[in-house]
Amino acid sequence: MVYCHVMRRSVFIKTFGCQMNAVDSARMLSLLSSASYRAAATLEEADLVLLNTCSIREKADQKIYSDLGTLRRWKQRRPGRLVGVGGCLAQQDGEALRARAPHVDIVFGTHNIANLPEMVRRAEHRLPTLAIGMEEGITHWDVVPHLPAGAVTAMVAIMQGCDNFCAYCVVPLVRGREVSRPAGEILSEIRALAGRGVREVVLLGQNVNSYGKKEGEIPFPELLRRISAVEGISRIRFITSHPRDLDDRTIRLFGEAATLCPHVHLPLQSGSDRVLAAMGRGYACAGYLAKIEALRQVRPGMAFSSDFIVGFPGETEDDFRETLSVMKEIRFDSAFSFRFSSRPGTRAAEMKEKVDPLVAADRLRRLQELQAAHTRERLSARVGREVDVLVEGASARDPGMRCGRTPCNKTVNFHPGSAEGPVRSVLVTGAGTHSLLGKERPANA
Ligand code: SAM
Ligand code: SF4
Repeated sequence: MVYCHVMRRSVFIKTFGCQMNAVDSARMLSLLSSASYRAAATLEEADLVLLNTCSIREKADQKIYSDLGTLRRWKQRRPGRLVGVGGCLAQQDGEALRARAPHVDIVFGTHNIANLPEMVRRAEHRLPTLAIGMEEGITHWDVVPHLPAGAVTAMVAIMQGCDNFCAYCVVPLVRGREVSRPAGEILSEIRALAGRGVREVVLLGQNVNSYGKKEGEIPFPELLRRISAVEGISRIRFITSHPRDLDDRTIRLFGEAATLCPHVHLPLQSGSDRVLAAMGRGYACAGYLAKIEALRQVRPGMAFSSDFIVGFPGETEDDFRETLSVMKEIRFDSAFSFRFSSRPGTRAAEMKEKVDPLVAADRLRRLQELQAAHTRERLSARVGREVDVLVEGASARDPGMRCGRTPCNKTVNFHPGSAEGPVRSVLVTGAGTHSLLGKERPANA
């Protein structure tokens, strides 16, 4: 008998940016696994490196071009190595990216993932590819994202792109116009995930509350209701909600469906109505506060997180103080905050009244200090309580400990007991800067 031993090549995927990119990377891995590539544990071991890029802020661009410099030397160290760049920066810079980094073999945009195996095959034969067309729409939704063994939580893209064109944001330009996936497809993906042991799904979209409106699909709250009925799924989360489009029906559902986790990420961006109008966000602060209040009414103890941009063109010290004041009123559990970054092709890039970078940096520091205090306060309030933790794996701080999250999305590192199963009852014994400490309650307690 003759054994034919085929050496599998390996791929290292580095993901930048948001969860949507993380899911796309999982799809890329899935596609390449069926094209005889395995995941490399390190960059040095890999034959192919893919950068799945982000272009939301200028800093992300700079980091990626700096990585590409490193990859030029990486490629020279072993013949036959290949470099591919996908995602938002590839979509945005296209040909210019290859001109700046000629050692890149494949440049592929946000709508061109499905053809990755073909592009890699071409690159193996020294044929470079530039694929950034959006005309065909999204062709990769039926590619099942790679799921790590034993995963209890999974992200599921329900839509892509955005029609909002907020003045500062490059997403509609690089991800394209908003497109929703058919509900039936989403539900079968979730059923399959439940069958593989997944207990929590995180639904992804740039504006999940407008899910299906263009396509005449079922409304978002109905989608949530149907997912709630999937056997095995006990936790549903979604990101990102748009404050303008979060409707009463979805809010009410938080009081009806126990599977909906009591945490909402609702990006406010600014506490000043003047700045919100200039950003083109389509809501004012009072409306935002009313929705937070309504959510707290239907689900007491709900956790909230948000995104903020400081130093948007024309933002004054008074505008900024309004942001701090809304933060004090709401007391978010956590927040992502950024200094405004001017992005090519956006309306804000043309706005004249730029804020001095040092002033913007100082505002960001003040905002982050305030948020850190609120985060500490929110975490400390949980000490002494018992929480249900969905266990995701070993703790990074101590391999003897386990790590998981509460329904409110708080990370908990805890000393395990003897209980079995993915959800453990944990007594919170301490609070850190971003996470909780705990110990598992004995199974018969
Ligand atoms: N679709 C979501 C929404 O409407 O809030 C968020 C999308 S974006 C990937 C995530 C966050 O990045 C935004 O909420 C915003 O705070 C921030 N962001 C987007 N463009 C930015 C820019 N040009 N400068 C600074 N931050 C920006
Ligand atoms: Fe960007 Fe606004 Fe769309 Fe969010 S809603 S992705 S911030 S344009």
